[in-house]
Amino acid sequence: MSLGLIPQEIIEQVKDRTDILDVVSGYVTLSKAGQNFKGLCPFHSEKTPSFMVSPSRQIFHCFGCGTGGNAFTFVMKMEGTSFPETIRELARKAGIAVPEAAPGFRPAQDTGNREKLETLNEAAQAWFMHNLTQAEAGRDARLYLKERGMFEDTLEAFGFGYAPESWDGLLKHLLKNGYTLPDLLAGGLITTKDGAGRNPKDASGYYDKFRARVMFPIRDLRKKVIGFGGRILGEGMPKYLNSPETPLFSKGRALYLLEKAREAAGKTDTVIIVEGYFDAIALHQAGITNVVATLGTALTPDHIRTIRRYVTKVVLLFDPDEAGVRAALRTLDLFVDSGLGVKVVSLPSGDDPDTFIRNQGTEVFAQMQEKAPSLLDFAVEHSLKRAGSTVIEDRIRSVDEILRILQKTSNRLEKEECTKRVAERLGVNQQRLIERYPELRPREMRQARRDAPVSVPSAGARFKGTPEERDLVHLLLQGQLLPAEVRRLEAETFSMPACKLIVEIALRTLDEGRVSVRATLDEALADVACATVATELSMLDQPYDDVRQHVTDCLGRLERKKLEGALGRLITQLRVAEQEGRTDEAQRLNDEVNALRLQKSGRATVSSAPSA
Ligand SMILES: [Zn+2]
Repeated sequence: MSLGLIPQEIIEQVKDRTDILDVVSGYVTLSKAGQNFKGLCPFHSEKTPSFMVSPSRQIFHCFGCGTGGNAFTFVMKMEGTSFPETIRELARKAGIAVPEAAPGFRPAQDTGNREKLETLNEAAQAWFMHNLTQAEAGRDARLYLKERGMFEDTLEAFGFGYAPESWDGLLKHLLKNGYTLPDLLAGGLITTKDGAGRNPKDASGYYDKFRARVMFPIRDLRKKVIGFGGRILGEGMPKYLNSPETPLFSKGRALYLLEKAREAAGKTDTVIIVEGYFDAIALHQAGITNVVATLGTALTPDHIRTIRRYVTKVVLLFDPDEAGVRAALRTLDLFVDSGLGVKVVSLPSGDDPDTFIRNQGTEVFAQMQEKAPSLLDFAVEHSLKRAGSTVIEDRIRSVDEILRILQKTSNRLEKEECTKRVAERLGVNQQRLIERYPELRPREMRQARRDAPVSVPSAGARFKGTPEERDLVHLLLQGQLLPAEVRRLEAETFSMPACKLIVEIALRTLDEGRVSVRATLDEALADVACATVATELSMLDQPYDDVRQHVTDCLGRLERKKLEGALGRLITQLRVAEQEGRTDEAQRLNDEVNALRLQKSGRATVSSAPSA
């Protein structure tokens, strides 16, 4: 992994100031599970969450597809950015200044030249659109859009484009038209090749960020293109890719199609929020035009502030699956004090807005909106359904989360009204809930731990090594091995290369009698071959009755295995020596074999005693 020209101390600063939970929450809806958080994996398709994030270790791991790493690798995988780009983006978010890559190399973003970026984006947009109209080059993309139910005139009205698979089509086109590499970098249209020289004059160090994708221009209210979204054509990751943060574009602020939705939203005093480009366009082309979409992130306070300028009513249209429901519930916190009336429309399972509108028509959709529950009712109903209990205490506990959120409302009236409604739903006296409020917060921690739907990943679901290696590296990465125990580890007794490497790193960082789990994990994560084993074993939640005894047993087994290996090799040598009549050597080997056998049987009986 190339560190480019960013100084190590800056990378460390960025690491310190970046929280993996913040980073991942921008893409994945997470819920608490014990000490960790879990959600649906963004790297493979799944129905039940096997993607885990550990705030204490600052890592993530998916027990479904085996992907794992830290905040840096997460962003790199999600955004398709290089390591230096990722550091720069996270540094910008954390407010850390990163020195320029080379003397005289100043991306336009630093000059604040928004206008220049706008014309650059328009040029890129024109090129993407042109590609889509090409009989040959644009055929697959047009076919795909047709399959997604996009009408012919929708393609032009929404500015659909196509980024071909070539690595430098856009790069060459824009350079030819007078733009510079720093311009293209600032606009987030190209990516730095890992390990390349980063010479701002040498285009071979860069390549197009968007390749083999159907392109959506993202516009601001002045209808200027501020960024792009791209949907991969065919298989590939990430499925959706957005422009990185630029002086013009921020995912946490932009709402897709707001420029088209604003007028209708104002008239109806309602904005409908969906989760994807295609969902938004499908509704627009069906004539429902007060629709916007978030850009692969959860709603943010910035989004809410924007929405509040135009409407007082919001309709959330989420997928009916678990991820969609959780995404809806997560917004409760954001909306509770916003003054916005929020309803939740859930489409029938298996339907997306596109198919639903086409099959049922806009009239049915309007009725659904009319009858949709408020976000609060939706949340309470959902929690109660999940609790499925008739015991009052259980029912109250199942909505604890909601009550905790309600507690934050500064609006007294709203708070009272909501409490009343929740009490009704629960079938309890309102007073009983109010009395309970003060004790909600201190109970929160215990409650969360006890009630978390803990789905402990099965031990080493994908781990290929022996149980001894797994448990020892697991305990090592959890900081549960004593220095004396770490010293007894021998890298060569581990069969998996990744485990060998982790043990080597640990022994190297074993400084002043203390194992630095953080340093070991950091170094292991930087190694591609090691990273996923390291995250998997760090995140394993495997209890041991007696850790010390278990460690001793594992170490004993590894040491015995090592002795057996040595014994086997000696015996082979002994046989060869005997066959070839080298009696002196045979005698010496025979003595060694006997000594080893003695040592082995001794080990077997005293294996639980610590050895030097
Ligand atoms: Zn996965």
